[in-house]
Amino acid sequence: MAGVAKRVPKRQCVICRESNDKRNLTRIVRSPEGEIAVDPTGRKNGRGTYLCDKPSCRAALVRTKGLDRAFKMAVPQEVYDRILQELDAADSGRTVTE
Ligand SMILES: [Zn+2]
Repeated sequence: MAGVAKRVPKRQCVICRESNDKRNLTRIVRSPEGEIAVDPTGRKNGRGTYLCDKPSCRAALVRTKGLDRAFKMAVPQEVYDRILQELDAADSGRTVTE
């Protein structure tokens, strides 16, 4: 089979449903133990969902309880607060190379 394009992994933002390069999305994972955390490496075990880096999606994640839908469970507000903190921390730790 000829002409197979090199595939860039694409993932869908849980809020806006736009497909994006995996590296432009942040993975949020629910571990087998039920703990929800930001996964900057994208390699943690568990059920993952993806959030793009638009501020509107980040705000909507909390406002519309996007993690409740993604993980089909009631996610406590304190978990949302922690996720937002971790997202902010991931932002400030990101080095701009372009
Ligand atoms: Zn989005």
